Amino acid sequence: MSVYSGPVFDMAAEQFGVIANHLSIPFDERDRLLLPKRAVIISCPIHRDDGSITVFEGYRVQHHLTLGPTKGGTRFAPSVDIGEVAALAIWMSWKCALVGLPYGGAKGGVRVDLTTLSKRELEGLSRRYMQEMIPFVGPHTDVMAPDMGTNEQVMAWFMDTYSMYQGRTVTEIVTGKPVSSGGTLGRREATGRGVAHIAKRVLNELSINLGTATAVIQGFGNVGSYAALELHRFGLKVIAVSDHTGALHDPSGLDIPALIRHAGTHGSIAGFSNQLQFDPEQIFALSCDVLVPAAMERVIDAQVAANLKCRVLAEGANGPTTPDADLVLEKRQDEVFVIPDILCNAGGVIVSYFEWVQDLQQLFWEEEEVTRREYQILDRAFDQMVTRARVDKISHRTAAMAIGVEKVRAGKNIRGLFP
Ligand code: GLU
Repeated sequence: MSVYSGPVFDMAAEQFGVIANHLSIPFDERDRLLLPKRAVIISCPIHRDDGSITVFEGYRVQHHLTLGPTKGGTRFAPSVDIGEVAALAIWMSWKCALVGLPYGGAKGGVRVDLTTLSKRELEGLSRRYMQEMIPFVGPHTDVMAPDMGTNEQVMAWFMDTYSMYQGRTVTEIVTGKPVSSGGTLGRREATGRGVAHIAKRVLNELSINLGTATAVIQGFGNVGSYAALELHRFGLKVIAVSDHTGALHDPSGLDIPALIRHAGTHGSIAGFSNQLQFDPEQIFALSCDVLVPAAMERVIDAQVAANLKCRVLAEGANGPTTPDADLVLEKRQDEVFVIPDILCNAGGVIVSYFEWVQDLQQLFWEEEEVTRREYQILDRAFDQMVTRARVDKISHRTAAMAIGVEKVRAGKNIRGLFP
Protein backbone atom coordinates (compact mmCIF):
# COMPACT_ATOMS: atom_id res chain seq x y z
CA MET A 1 0.00 0.00 0.00
CA SER A 2 1.20 3.53 -0.69
CA VAL A 3 -0.38 6.96 -0.79
CA TYR A 4 -0.73 6.46 -4.56
CA SER A 5 -2.64 3.15 -4.36
CA GLY A 6 -5.78 3.09 -6.46
CA PRO A 7 -6.93 1.61 -9.75
CA VAL A 8 -4.82 3.79 -12.07
CA PHE A 9 -1.58 3.72 -10.07
CA ASP A 10 -1.97 -0.02 -9.48
CA MET A 11 -2.30 -0.46 -13.25
CA ALA A 12 0.92 1.52 -13.89
CA ALA A 13 2.68 -0.54 -11.20
CA GLU A 14 1.41 -3.81 -12.69
CA GLN A 15 2.60 -2.80 -16.16
CA PHE A 16 5.99 -1.88 -14.72
CA GLY A 17 6.17 -5.28 -12.99
CA VAL A 18 5.74 -7.00 -16.36
CA ILE A 19 8.59 -4.93 -17.84
CA ALA A 20 10.84 -5.36 -14.79
CA ASN A 21 10.36 -9.15 -15.00
CA HIS A 22 11.03 -9.11 -18.74
CA LEU A 23 14.24 -7.10 -18.22
CA SER A 24 15.18 -9.14 -15.10
CA ILE A 25 15.62 -5.95 -13.09
CA PRO A 26 16.78 -6.85 -9.55
CA PHE A 27 14.04 -6.33 -6.95
CA ASP A 28 16.03 -3.78 -4.95
CA GLU A 29 16.19 -1.53 -8.03
CA ARG A 30 12.49 -1.60 -8.84
CA ASP A 31 11.10 0.88 -6.32
CA ARG A 32 13.77 3.38 -7.31
CA LEU A 33 12.52 3.23 -10.90
CA LEU A 34 8.80 3.13 -10.20
CA LEU A 35 8.08 5.40 -7.24
CA PRO A 36 7.74 9.16 -7.89
CA LYS A 37 10.51 11.44 -6.67
CA ARG A 38 8.10 14.08 -5.40
CA ALA A 39 4.39 14.71 -5.01
CA VAL A 40 2.78 17.99 -4.00
CA ILE A 41 -0.81 18.40 -2.84
CA ILE A 42 -2.13 21.93 -2.63
CA SER A 43 -5.33 23.73 -1.70
CA CYS A 44 -6.52 26.26 -4.27
CA PRO A 45 -9.04 28.69 -2.79
CA ILE A 46 -10.86 30.86 -5.31
CA HIS A 47 -13.48 33.59 -5.19
CA ARG A 48 -16.74 32.46 -6.77
CA ASP A 49 -18.91 34.75 -8.85
CA ASP A 50 -21.54 34.80 -6.05
CA GLY A 51 -19.00 36.15 -3.54
CA SER A 52 -18.37 32.83 -1.74
CA ILE A 53 -15.04 30.95 -1.59
CA THR A 54 -14.40 27.38 -2.74
CA VAL A 55 -11.24 25.37 -2.11
CA PHE A 56 -10.13 22.89 -4.81
CA GLU A 57 -7.52 20.20 -4.26
CA GLY A 58 -4.60 20.25 -6.71
CA TYR A 59 -1.70 17.88 -7.32
CA ARG A 60 1.64 17.67 -9.10
CA VAL A 61 3.76 14.51 -9.26
CA GLN A 62 7.34 14.59 -10.58
CA HIS A 63 8.38 11.04 -11.35
CA HIS A 64 12.14 11.23 -11.86
CA LEU A 65 14.76 13.94 -12.33
CA THR A 66 17.49 11.72 -13.78
CA LEU A 67 17.51 12.86 -17.41
CA GLY A 68 16.54 16.54 -17.09
CA PRO A 69 13.52 18.55 -15.96
CA THR A 70 10.21 16.78 -15.53
CA LYS A 71 7.53 17.32 -18.18
CA GLY A 72 3.84 16.67 -18.42
CA GLY A 73 0.33 17.99 -18.59
CA THR A 74 -2.12 19.41 -16.09
CA ARG A 75 -5.56 17.86 -15.95
CA PHE A 76 -8.73 19.59 -14.72
CA ALA A 77 -11.32 16.85 -14.25
CA PRO A 78 -13.55 15.36 -11.53
CA SER A 79 -11.66 12.02 -11.63
CA VAL A 80 -8.29 13.53 -10.68
CA ASP A 81 -6.58 12.16 -7.57
CA ILE A 82 -2.99 11.67 -6.45
CA GLY A 83 -2.86 8.07 -7.69
CA GLU A 84 -4.12 8.92 -11.17
CA VAL A 85 -1.67 11.82 -11.44
CA ALA A 86 1.22 9.60 -10.27
CA ALA A 87 0.37 6.93 -12.85
CA LEU A 88 0.18 9.53 -15.62
CA ALA A 89 3.56 10.95 -14.49
CA ILE A 90 5.12 7.47 -14.66
CA TRP A 91 3.74 6.93 -18.19
CA MET A 92 5.18 10.32 -19.20
CA SER A 93 8.63 9.07 -18.08
CA TRP A 94 8.53 5.95 -20.24
CA LYS A 95 7.11 8.01 -23.13
CA CYS A 96 9.79 10.73 -23.01
CA ALA A 97 12.55 8.12 -22.70
CA LEU A 98 11.15 5.99 -25.55
CA VAL A 99 11.22 8.91 -27.99
CA GLY A 100 14.51 10.27 -26.63
CA LEU A 101 13.51 13.54 -24.95
CA PRO A 102 15.73 14.90 -22.13
CA TYR A 103 12.93 14.81 -19.55
CA GLY A 104 11.51 12.83 -16.69
CA GLY A 105 7.74 12.46 -16.46
CA ALA A 106 5.38 14.63 -14.47
CA LYS A 107 1.66 15.25 -14.29
CA GLY A 108 -0.61 17.50 -12.34
CA GLY A 109 -4.22 18.29 -11.95
CA VAL A 110 -7.13 19.69 -10.04
CA ARG A 111 -10.16 17.70 -9.03
CA VAL A 112 -12.92 19.90 -10.48
CA ASP A 113 -16.06 19.64 -12.56
CA LEU A 114 -15.47 22.36 -15.15
CA THR A 115 -19.17 22.61 -16.01
CA THR A 116 -19.65 24.27 -12.60
CA LEU A 117 -17.12 27.08 -13.25
CA SER A 118 -17.58 30.35 -15.13
CA LYS A 119 -14.72 31.55 -17.35
CA ARG A 120 -13.66 34.03 -14.67
CA GLU A 121 -13.65 31.29 -12.02
CA LEU A 122 -11.59 29.04 -14.35
CA GLU A 123 -9.05 31.83 -14.72
CA GLY A 124 -8.95 32.25 -10.93
CA LEU A 125 -8.39 28.52 -10.43
CA SER A 126 -5.70 28.34 -13.14
CA ARG A 127 -3.80 31.29 -11.70
CA ARG A 128 -4.08 30.05 -8.12
CA TYR A 129 -2.90 26.55 -9.12
CA MET A 130 0.21 27.96 -10.82
CA GLN A 131 0.88 30.39 -8.00
CA GLU A 132 0.83 27.55 -5.44
CA MET A 133 3.18 25.54 -7.69
CA ILE A 134 5.83 28.26 -8.06
CA PRO A 135 8.20 26.76 -5.44
CA PHE A 136 8.12 23.38 -7.20
CA VAL A 137 8.30 24.17 -10.93
CA GLY A 138 10.62 26.07 -13.27
CA PRO A 139 11.90 25.96 -16.86
CA HIS A 140 14.75 23.66 -15.74
CA THR A 141 12.82 21.86 -12.98
CA ASP A 142 9.33 20.95 -14.19
CA VAL A 143 7.52 22.19 -17.30
CA MET A 144 3.71 21.91 -17.49
CA ALA A 145 1.50 21.47 -20.57
CA PRO A 146 -2.18 20.91 -21.37
CA ASP A 147 -4.03 17.67 -20.70
CA MET A 148 -7.70 16.77 -20.28
CA GLY A 149 -9.74 19.87 -19.35
CA THR A 150 -6.96 22.40 -19.98
CA ASN A 151 -6.05 24.27 -23.16
CA GLU A 152 -3.95 27.07 -24.65
CA GLN A 153 -5.83 29.70 -22.68
CA VAL A 154 -5.09 27.95 -19.37
CA MET A 155 -1.42 27.67 -20.38
CA ALA A 156 -1.36 31.42 -21.14
CA TRP A 157 -2.74 32.11 -17.63
CA PHE A 158 -0.14 29.74 -16.11
CA MET A 159 2.66 31.48 -18.02
CA ASP A 160 1.38 34.94 -17.13
CA THR A 161 1.04 34.08 -13.42
CA TYR A 162 4.55 32.61 -13.21
CA SER A 163 5.96 35.57 -15.16
CA MET A 164 4.28 38.18 -12.94
CA TYR A 165 5.96 36.64 -9.89
CA GLN A 166 9.36 36.58 -11.64
CA GLY A 167 9.02 40.15 -12.87
CA ARG A 168 9.76 39.16 -16.48
CA THR A 169 8.17 37.04 -19.19
CA VAL A 170 9.18 33.39 -18.85
CA THR A 171 7.54 31.66 -21.80
CA GLU A 172 9.56 28.46 -21.29
CA ILE A 173 7.75 27.66 -18.01
CA VAL A 174 4.89 25.88 -19.84
CA THR A 175 4.25 24.46 -23.30
CA GLY A 176 1.07 24.24 -25.31
CA LYS A 177 0.70 28.02 -25.14
CA PRO A 178 -1.02 30.11 -27.83
CA VAL A 179 1.36 30.96 -30.69
CA SER A 180 0.87 34.63 -29.79
CA SER A 181 2.40 34.00 -26.33
CA GLY A 182 5.50 31.99 -27.19
CA GLY A 183 3.74 28.83 -28.30
CA THR A 184 4.93 26.89 -31.32
CA LEU A 185 3.18 26.34 -34.61
CA GLY A 186 1.96 22.76 -34.81
CA ARG A 187 1.58 22.08 -31.05
CA ARG A 188 -2.22 22.28 -31.05
CA GLU A 189 -2.42 19.64 -33.77
CA ALA A 190 0.65 17.64 -32.69
CA THR A 191 -0.87 14.78 -30.68
CA GLY A 192 -3.71 14.03 -33.09
CA ARG A 193 -1.43 14.36 -36.10
CA GLY A 194 1.06 11.95 -34.56
CA VAL A 195 -1.69 9.40 -33.86
CA ALA A 196 -2.89 9.62 -37.47
CA HIS A 197 0.65 9.52 -38.90
CA ILE A 198 1.56 6.30 -37.09
CA ALA A 199 -1.86 4.75 -37.84
CA LYS A 200 -1.32 5.52 -41.54
CA ARG A 201 2.11 3.87 -41.45
CA VAL A 202 0.58 0.73 -39.97
CA LEU A 203 -2.26 0.69 -42.53
CA ASN A 204 0.32 0.97 -45.32
CA GLU A 205 2.37 -1.87 -43.86
CA LEU A 206 -0.77 -4.00 -43.61
CA SER A 207 -1.59 -3.13 -47.26
CA ILE A 208 -4.92 -1.57 -46.27
CA ASN A 209 -6.08 1.03 -48.78
CA LEU A 210 -6.55 4.42 -47.09
CA GLY A 211 -9.35 5.34 -49.50
CA THR A 212 -11.56 2.47 -48.36
CA ALA A 213 -10.44 2.29 -44.73
CA THR A 214 -12.67 3.31 -41.81
CA ALA A 215 -11.94 4.89 -38.43
CA VAL A 216 -13.76 5.18 -35.10
CA ILE A 217 -12.78 7.85 -32.58
CA GLN A 218 -13.70 7.69 -28.87
CA GLY A 219 -13.26 11.18 -27.39
CA PHE A 220 -13.43 14.43 -29.33
CA GLY A 221 -11.20 16.78 -27.39
CA ASN A 222 -7.88 18.09 -28.71
CA VAL A 223 -6.46 14.61 -29.44
CA GLY A 224 -9.56 12.93 -30.87
CA SER A 225 -10.63 15.84 -33.06
CA TYR A 226 -7.24 16.39 -34.71
CA ALA A 227 -6.69 12.64 -35.13
CA ALA A 228 -10.12 12.44 -36.83
CA LEU A 229 -9.36 15.43 -39.06
CA GLU A 230 -6.00 14.05 -40.17
CA LEU A 231 -7.39 10.54 -40.84
CA HIS A 232 -10.23 12.19 -42.79
CA ARG A 233 -7.62 14.12 -44.79
CA PHE A 234 -5.79 10.85 -45.55
CA GLY A 235 -9.02 9.62 -47.16
CA LEU A 236 -10.35 7.37 -44.37
CA LYS A 237 -14.06 7.40 -43.59
CA VAL A 238 -14.53 8.34 -39.92
CA ILE A 239 -17.69 6.33 -39.31
CA ALA A 240 -18.20 7.05 -35.59
CA VAL A 241 -17.20 9.59 -32.97
CA SER A 242 -18.12 9.83 -29.30
CA ASP A 243 -17.59 12.31 -26.47
CA HIS A 244 -18.94 12.78 -22.93
CA THR A 245 -22.35 13.80 -24.33
CA GLY A 246 -22.98 10.84 -26.66
CA ALA A 247 -21.97 9.28 -29.97
CA LEU A 248 -22.60 9.69 -33.69
CA HIS A 249 -22.43 6.91 -36.28
CA ASP A 250 -22.61 7.20 -40.05
CA PRO A 251 -21.44 4.21 -42.11
CA SER A 252 -20.88 6.48 -45.09
CA GLY A 253 -18.50 8.69 -43.09
CA LEU A 254 -19.05 11.74 -40.86
CA ASP A 255 -18.31 15.27 -42.09
CA ILE A 256 -15.36 15.77 -39.72
CA PRO A 257 -14.56 19.43 -40.57
CA ALA A 258 -18.24 20.33 -39.95
CA LEU A 259 -18.28 18.31 -36.70
CA ILE A 260 -15.14 20.11 -35.48
CA ARG A 261 -16.73 23.47 -36.26
CA HIS A 262 -19.86 22.40 -34.36
CA ALA A 263 -17.87 21.17 -31.33
CA GLY A 264 -15.87 24.42 -31.39
CA THR A 265 -19.04 26.50 -31.15
CA HIS A 266 -21.13 24.29 -28.86
CA GLY A 267 -18.44 22.68 -26.69
CA SER A 268 -19.39 19.11 -27.64
CA ILE A 269 -20.78 16.95 -30.45
CA ALA A 270 -24.31 17.16 -28.91
CA GLY A 271 -26.90 18.64 -31.28
CA PHE A 272 -24.92 17.92 -34.46
CA SER A 273 -27.45 15.42 -35.76
CA ASN A 274 -30.42 13.57 -34.29
CA GLN A 275 -30.51 10.89 -37.00
CA LEU A 276 -26.89 9.85 -36.49
CA GLN A 277 -27.12 9.34 -32.73
CA PHE A 278 -25.66 6.08 -31.51
CA ASP A 279 -25.16 4.22 -28.21
CA PRO A 280 -21.71 5.36 -26.93
CA GLU A 281 -21.36 2.04 -25.06
CA GLN A 282 -21.19 0.29 -28.43
CA ILE A 283 -18.40 2.43 -29.88
CA PHE A 284 -15.62 -0.11 -29.20
CA ALA A 285 -17.65 -2.94 -30.74
CA LEU A 286 -17.86 -1.28 -34.17
CA SER A 287 -16.09 -2.95 -37.02
CA CYS A 288 -13.41 -0.61 -38.43
CA ASP A 289 -9.80 -0.43 -39.60
CA VAL A 290 -8.55 2.09 -37.05
CA LEU A 291 -9.95 2.54 -33.54
CA VAL A 292 -8.66 5.55 -31.60
CA PRO A 293 -9.47 5.67 -27.88
CA ALA A 294 -8.76 9.35 -27.13
CA ALA A 295 -10.36 10.01 -23.77
CA MET A 296 -9.86 8.36 -20.38
CA GLU A 297 -7.63 5.61 -19.06
CA ARG A 298 -8.84 2.00 -18.44
CA VAL A 299 -11.72 2.00 -20.93
CA ILE A 300 -10.59 -1.20 -22.69
CA ASP A 301 -10.78 -4.09 -20.25
CA ALA A 302 -10.47 -7.80 -21.01
CA GLN A 303 -14.08 -8.09 -22.15
CA VAL A 304 -13.94 -5.06 -24.43
CA ALA A 305 -10.59 -6.30 -25.80
CA ALA A 306 -12.08 -9.68 -26.66
CA ASN A 307 -14.83 -7.96 -28.66
CA LEU A 308 -12.75 -5.37 -30.52
CA LYS A 309 -13.38 -5.48 -34.27
CA CYS A 310 -10.64 -3.09 -35.35
CA ARG A 311 -7.52 -3.96 -37.33
CA VAL A 312 -5.42 -1.22 -35.67
CA LEU A 313 -5.79 0.06 -32.10
CA ALA A 314 -4.19 3.52 -32.03
CA GLU A 315 -4.05 4.64 -28.40
CA GLY A 316 -4.48 8.42 -28.37
CA ALA A 317 -5.35 8.48 -24.65
CA ASN A 318 -2.94 7.66 -21.85
CA GLY A 319 -3.50 4.20 -20.35
CA PRO A 320 -6.73 3.27 -22.17
CA THR A 321 -5.97 -0.48 -22.07
CA THR A 322 -5.79 -2.47 -18.83
CA PRO A 323 -3.14 -5.18 -18.20
CA ASP A 324 -5.93 -7.83 -18.36
CA ALA A 325 -6.91 -6.52 -21.77
CA ASP A 326 -3.25 -6.68 -22.83
CA LEU A 327 -3.25 -10.42 -22.13
CA VAL A 328 -6.26 -10.80 -24.44
CA LEU A 329 -4.68 -8.61 -27.12
CA GLU A 330 -1.42 -10.58 -26.98
CA LYS A 331 -3.41 -13.62 -28.08
CA ARG A 332 -5.08 -11.55 -30.81
CA GLN A 333 -1.81 -10.06 -32.13
CA ASP A 334 -2.47 -11.22 -35.69
CA GLU A 335 -5.96 -9.64 -35.68
CA VAL A 336 -5.37 -6.34 -33.82
CA PHE A 337 -2.19 -4.28 -34.32
CA VAL A 338 -1.69 -2.29 -31.09
CA ILE A 339 0.08 1.08 -31.24
CA PRO A 340 0.67 1.64 -27.52
CA ASP A 341 -0.11 5.00 -25.91
CA ILE A 342 3.46 5.97 -25.01
CA LEU A 343 4.33 5.90 -28.71
CA CYS A 344 0.99 6.71 -30.32
CA ASN A 345 0.29 9.95 -28.43
CA ALA A 346 3.93 11.03 -28.01
CA GLY A 347 3.61 13.66 -30.77
CA GLY A 348 2.22 16.06 -28.15
CA VAL A 349 5.19 16.00 -25.82
CA ILE A 350 7.64 15.86 -28.75
CA VAL A 351 6.30 19.17 -30.04
CA SER A 352 6.17 20.50 -26.46
CA TYR A 353 9.89 19.79 -26.37
CA PHE A 354 10.30 21.80 -29.60
CA GLU A 355 8.30 24.65 -28.05
CA TRP A 356 10.53 24.66 -24.94
CA VAL A 357 13.68 24.64 -27.09
CA GLN A 358 12.36 27.51 -29.24
CA ASP A 359 11.40 29.55 -26.15
CA LEU A 360 14.82 29.01 -24.55
CA GLN A 361 16.53 30.13 -27.77
CA GLN A 362 13.96 32.74 -28.83
CA LEU A 363 14.27 31.30 -32.31
CA PHE A 364 11.04 30.10 -33.91
CA TRP A 365 10.52 27.44 -36.56
CA GLU A 366 8.15 27.09 -39.49
CA GLU A 367 5.23 24.68 -38.97
CA GLU A 368 6.56 22.43 -41.71
CA GLU A 369 9.82 21.96 -39.80
CA VAL A 370 7.99 21.24 -36.53
CA THR A 371 5.83 18.55 -38.11
CA ARG A 372 8.64 17.01 -40.17
CA ARG A 373 10.80 16.63 -37.06
CA GLU A 374 7.85 15.29 -35.05
CA TYR A 375 7.25 12.52 -37.60
CA GLN A 376 10.98 11.77 -37.81
CA ILE A 377 11.13 11.10 -34.05
CA LEU A 378 7.88 9.10 -34.05
CA ASP A 379 9.03 6.99 -37.01
CA ARG A 380 12.36 6.19 -35.37
CA ALA A 381 10.66 5.13 -32.12
CA PHE A 382 8.11 3.08 -34.07
CA ASP A 383 10.91 1.21 -35.92
CA GLN A 384 12.73 0.52 -32.66
CA MET A 385 9.55 -0.75 -31.01
CA VAL A 386 8.55 -3.04 -33.87
CA THR A 387 12.07 -4.49 -34.17
CA ARG A 388 12.33 -5.07 -30.44
CA ALA A 389 8.91 -6.76 -30.34
CA ARG A 390 9.87 -9.06 -33.21
CA VAL A 391 13.32 -9.98 -31.89
CA ASP A 392 12.22 -10.55 -28.28
CA LYS A 393 8.82 -12.05 -29.28
CA ILE A 394 6.94 -9.62 -27.04
CA SER A 395 3.96 -7.30 -27.47
CA HIS A 396 4.35 -3.79 -28.82
CA ARG A 397 3.51 -2.36 -25.41
CA THR A 398 6.11 -4.47 -23.63
CA ALA A 399 8.68 -3.51 -26.27
CA ALA A 400 7.91 0.22 -26.09
CA MET A 401 7.90 0.28 -22.30
CA ALA A 402 11.04 -1.86 -22.09
CA ILE A 403 12.94 0.64 -24.27
CA GLY A 404 11.72 3.53 -22.09
CA VAL A 405 12.44 1.81 -18.77
CA GLU A 406 15.90 0.72 -19.95
CA LYS A 407 16.87 4.29 -20.80
CA VAL A 408 15.75 5.64 -17.42
CA ARG A 409 17.50 2.75 -15.69
CA ALA A 410 20.73 3.33 -17.61
CA GLY A 411 20.61 7.04 -16.68
CA LYS A 412 20.17 6.21 -13.00
CA ASN A 413 22.86 3.52 -12.94
CA ILE A 414 25.55 5.57 -14.66
CA ARG A 415 24.95 8.56 -12.36
CA GLY A 416 24.91 6.31 -9.29
CA LEU A 417 23.08 6.76 -6.01
CA PHE A 418 23.83 10.04 -4.20
CA PRO A 419 25.26 10.42 -1.54
N1 GLU B 1 -0.55 15.88 -21.64
C1 GLU B 1 0.14 15.41 -22.81
C2 GLU B 1 0.58 13.97 -22.64
O1 GLU B 1 0.01 13.26 -21.87
C3 GLU B 1 1.25 16.35 -23.24
C4 GLU B 1 2.36 16.55 -22.24
C5 GLU B 1 3.34 17.63 -22.68
O2 GLU B 1 3.23 18.13 -23.77
O3 GLU B 1 4.22 17.92 -21.86
O4 GLU B 1 1.45 13.49 -23.32
